[in-house]
Order: sequence, then structure tokens, then C-alpha cells
Amino acid sequence: MQPRQVYYGYLKDPASGRCVDEVISFYFAAPHSYTGEDVVEIQTHGGIIVVQRALQLLLRSGAVMAAAGEFTKRAFLSGRLDLTQAEAVRDLIQADGIAGAAQAMEQLSGLLGRRISQLTRKFLQMIATIEVSIDFPDDYGALDRREFDQSLTQLAKELQHLLVTADQGRIVRQGLKLVIVGRPNVGKSSLLNSLLGEDRAIVTAIAGTTRDVLEERFSLDGIVMRLVDTAGLHESADEIEQLGMARTRSSIETADLVLWVLDAKESLQEEDRELALLLQNKPLLLVLNKTDVADGMDLQKELLQRGFKQKPISIAATLGEGLEGLQDAIRQQVLTGKIIAGNEPILTSLRHKDAVEQALRQVEACKQAVAVGLPEDCYVINLRSAYEALATISGELVSEDIIETIFSQFCVGK
Ligand code: GDP
Repeated sequence: MQPRQVYYGYLKDPASGRCVDEVISFYFAAPHSYTGEDVVEIQTHGGIIVVQRALQLLLRSGAVMAAAGEFTKRAFLSGRLDLTQAEAVRDLIQADGIAGAAQAMEQLSGLLGRRISQLTRKFLQMIATIEVSIDFPDDYGALDRREFDQSLTQLAKELQHLLVTADQGRIVRQGLKLVIVGRPNVGKSSLLNSLLGEDRAIVTAIAGTTRDVLEERFSLDGIVMRLVDTAGLHESADEIEQLGMARTRSSIETADLVLWVLDAKESLQEEDRELALLLQNKPLLLVLNKTDVADGMDLQKELLQRGFKQKPISIAATLGEGLEGLQDAIRQQVLTGKIIAGNEPILTSLRHKDAVEQALRQVEACKQAVAVGLPEDCYVINLRSAYEALATISGELVSEDIIETIFSQFCVGK
């Protein structure tokens, strides 16, 4: 077979001489293949039986089944992809929003891997500078501590900048968690339904019907919004409702943004005061519902008196009024300033974030060591740890179990 040519023919069982399928086939010669090895690809017709028979035949002839993510793992091990690019393949396959897919494509080009390599090189250079100044002080002179401290400050800034991108990476990949809270019957389920454009949550006029926490998704500017409707917070003897309320509390804790829905025709009540306490210091939008039947001026005054200075967004959920204003407010609150232009490297996983945080802690410890005048070999220990943490991101230095964990998240055949 000539590399990179398409061959047409029949897949035959050598034992019986019978045709299994009409196929096309390619040969990719190393290193010009996805894994960097010699690869033969056979394309059969779809369907379960044909594929199964073709597989059985190939396995009988000595082929071995691939494990989850094996192709991408081999590409990583042969140096064709760094670990951030391999993760991008996984993220691209798993993306459920356009923005998430676009982010994975950027990552696939190796943007983050290259940025991390620049940083690890800087650490290695600094380690080398210190070591020669310790070993050969006559030839290279003593370490200039002020200059060294400035380099550390600069590195800390660069690491902090990367850390800021982690939020965006997470939001774009996993979606943003919006939690809707409010007393029973203020119109939470109605708001959820009108944002989703479908009747997903049950709406009734009996207080306390939204007993469970319901998670639905919609897309805003290509980013998946995970919308969580919660049970009301009112005290209840009903066990199921109490469970729902405990979940409301934990939903608030993990929210990226809380939408607090209030009924424009009612005043603040005891439960609202409880909610107000839970919502302190949370990214929050005040949503005034049922403005088709009341203007809510009194309620607005009450909110102001209680220290909620932001202007509530007026909507009428059942009529779909004011939704655009609400969506604009969501955009402004969570997306503005956080969405970084496509050509900047961003941290897309918790693994990356942990590693950068670890490196930053080591840089800060090193600055401290310089400040209190510890000997220079102490700096090397910090710098080496920082280097080792960063090098796990692109896979320059990485343990077998991290590799196993990452590739086990792939499906077979990728
Ligand atoms: P939840 O308990 O907070 O989820 O509230 P629901 O969404 O179940 O709504 C409770 C009641 O308020 C239902 O009878 C809705 O039809 C009504 N409702 C919800 N939104 C509006 C609105 O914008 N205007 C009016 N007039 N009624 C509404």
C-alpha cells in the first residue's frame, strides 16, 4: 500500500473466503499519522453486525482492541501532542456549547502548552543562574538578589494572570450555574420556563410546588447556562420540602450567579429576610416579577432600605416581558471582562488551575526566603517545586496515574 492513498476493495475472511464487507482503506506511514506510528484505517459500512464481524476478523488476525483514549494517548506518548492538546481533544468531543467547542479548538493548537513551556524554561533558567553563582562565584559573581526578586515578582504576575483565565475556562466548558431563588409562588418556575421557552417545570398556584432542584440548560452567546430552579425556603414540616430547602442552600453556595425573584405585588416577608442573609456577598440579580399587575415601587423601597442598592430588573414571566433586559443583565454580570479573546492561552481544567496555584505558592515562598535573607540553595528548592508543578500541565513531567486518569475520560476509538 502507498501511504495516503485510498484503496477500495473487499474485506474477506481468509478462513472461509467469504466477503464481510465492501470497504475503503488508507495507510499512514510513521510519523505522519495521528499517533505518530504506522496506521492502517479500514472504513466499513455502518451498522452493528458489519462492524462486529469486521472487528472479530481483525482481532482473530492479531489486532488488539484499543482502550479508552488510546489513540490520543499514543499521540501524547510519541510527542505528537502535549497533554493540554490531548485534553482539548476530549473537551472538543464533550463540548455541548459552541463557545466550549471553540475554546477546545484553540487549545488544540497548543496555545496553553506553549505558554507553559515558556514559563517552565524561565524557571529552569533561574535555577541554573543560582546554581552557577553558588558553584562558580568567582567566574559568574554572586547572585544579584534585587534583580532576582524582581524576576520573581514578574513571574508571580504571569501566574496570577493565568489563574484569572481559569474561571472563563470552567464557565465556557461546563457552563455557568445560574440559580433561581425566591419564596414559593413568586414565579420562579414561570421564569425558568420562559427562559427555556418550554414548559419544563410544573407551574401551579399552590405554594411550595417546586419541591426539588431542577437543572435545565440554555445557551447565551454560545455559552451553556445551567439554570437551577430551587424549592422555596419557607419553614415546612414536610420532609421532602425540607430536603429541597437544604439543596437550595447548597445551590446558592455553588452558584456563579443568583437570580432572586420577588413578587411585585407583595412586600418583603420573613423568608425574604432569611434569603437576604444567605445571599450576602453572592453575585446577585434582583428580579421583580409580575410587573404586569403591580409596579413594585414599595418593594423596591424596602429592598433599598435593607441595603440592596442595585436596581431590580422588572419582568412578567408568564407573558415573557422583560426577558431581554434580564439576559442583558446576566451577560453584563458574568461575561463582561471574563471572556478573554480567543488567541490567549487559558486554563481549561481544575488540574491546570491546581498546578498554577501550586507554582504561585512556591514563587511567593521564594520571595519570602529572599526577603528574610535565607541562603540561595533554599530558593532552588522553591523554584524546582514550582517548575515541577507547571511541567505537569503540558506533560513534560507527569506521573503515570495522571495520564491514566486523563485518558480514561475518553471514549474508545479517540
Ligand atoms: P414558583 O413557586 O416561584 O415557582 O412560582 P410559579 O412559577 O409556580 O408561579 C406561581 C403563580 O404565579 C402561578 O399561578 C403563575 O401563573 C403566576 N405568575 C408567575 N409569573 C407571573 C407574572 O409575570 N404575572 C402574573 N400575573 N402571574 C404570574
